[in-house]
Amino acid sequence: MRKMTLDQWEKKYVAGEIRRFDQKYTMFARPQWDDKIKELLRWVTERSPSKPKAGYTLQDQALRIASRTGTQMHLFEADRPNPSAVARDLAKVLTPERMARNIMVSQPPADEKLEVTDPVKLTHDIKNAAIYFGADMVGICELDRRWVYSHSYGLGDGEYNPQEMPKEFQYAIVMGYHEEYEMLRYFPTYIADAETSLGYSKMAITNAYIAKFIKMLGHKAMSCSTNDVAVTIPMAMQVGLGDIGRHGMLIAPRYGAGIRLSKVLTSLLLIPDQPIDFGVTEFCATCKVCAERCPSQAIWHGERTAEPRNESNAPGGLKWPVDAEKCIGQWARQGKPCTICISICPFTKPDTSFHRLVRWFVDNMRWADSFFVKMDKLLGYEKPRDPADFWDRWEPQPSKGPRVKIRKRSAVNSEL
Ligand code: SF4
Ligand code: SF4
Repeated sequence: MRKMTLDQWEKKYVAGEIRRFDQKYTMFARPQWDDKIKELLRWVTERSPSKPKAGYTLQDQALRIASRTGTQMHLFEADRPNPSAVARDLAKVLTPERMARNIMVSQPPADEKLEVTDPVKLTHDIKNAAIYFGADMVGICELDRRWVYSHSYGLGDGEYNPQEMPKEFQYAIVMGYHEEYEMLRYFPTYIADAETSLGYSKMAITNAYIAKFIKMLGHKAMSCSTNDVAVTIPMAMQVGLGDIGRHGMLIAPRYGAGIRLSKVLTSLLLIPDQPIDFGVTEFCATCKVCAERCPSQAIWHGERTAEPRNESNAPGGLKWPVDAEKCIGQWARQGKPCTICISICPFTKPDTSFHRLVRWFVDNMRWADSFFVKMDKLLGYEKPRDPADFWDRWEPQPSKGPRVKIRKRSAVNSEL
């Protein structure tokens, strides 16, 4: 792995003019206003119920929906340029004066502010706080305003407004949340999606904590999930969490594509990290496993390009543009988000010494990528686990603390 300067990263990733993307055109906003996408999603509500199989039972679906509970927390964030109606109402009730009188949340005086005398130490401490609050990875960059959405589109209420980022928000803390490989291998069922959903719930809580922590230091902080306020993946690349893969998601050196992302924007003076290069671009050029296995053929088989495939692609970044319309059509047919490309990506593996060694070879012997792709297929990593296993994964042991893992019953292939 090598660190890159931002200029080197710019030459690698940016191939055209980056016009600020409009949140209205993200695929999670379009179902609210775009008849074409509404028609695609009609399938979800109108199909007739069939007998549920393992991985799609009511219990499996309940697991997935419960895992997603925390994601709505972002609606309560009041510090964005365009806060939701819920956040505006809450701000009227939870005034600083009322909060100051509440002994459970008694706060430092409003004018108390941490003076930043040692940004290196402060950066180190902020990263430690992020890990303590639940992030698995964290990096810092100066806020690059090209990634800030030109307009916000309320995913809950459809409010649509131009979005200008106040100038005091100069830095971004970008965090990653690991998804457990063994859970992702239950793809494409509700169970695998529970793991992705749980990642979004975890980020809502960690983000709220880190934003509150910074505010208590007397500085500005704005909590943002993956899909709001700004495009996250280029920021995650700039802070050195990983690199973009053919499937359009971030690939992290330890966790592959099994990583969810959030960011907190802040006025706090921090020291930026650097982008990294560990062989993803070359490997994806050879691999194409996700493009071959994508059930809707949404993933680009060709060379990287800065040209969008439809209005949900942000132009300018040199990448393999994913056709989000085809992707969401597949989600509609399955009645849930699809996790196949995340799960079968050869970079998405447990962080064992064996896989660390393979990653080292991928990084340092890039000419041998086609061999590593073949080996990944031969070892059967593309095959899913039997979803019937999930509910037997742990044996509850109340007297011994949490839970003890029991032997896996019918894994499709052994974990290396
Ligand atoms: S499956 Fe292969 S081509 Fe697709 S993102 Fe992963 S490494 Fe790249
Ligand atoms: S989520 Fe599923 S449908 Fe969408 S790009 Fe990935 S594999 Fe294809």
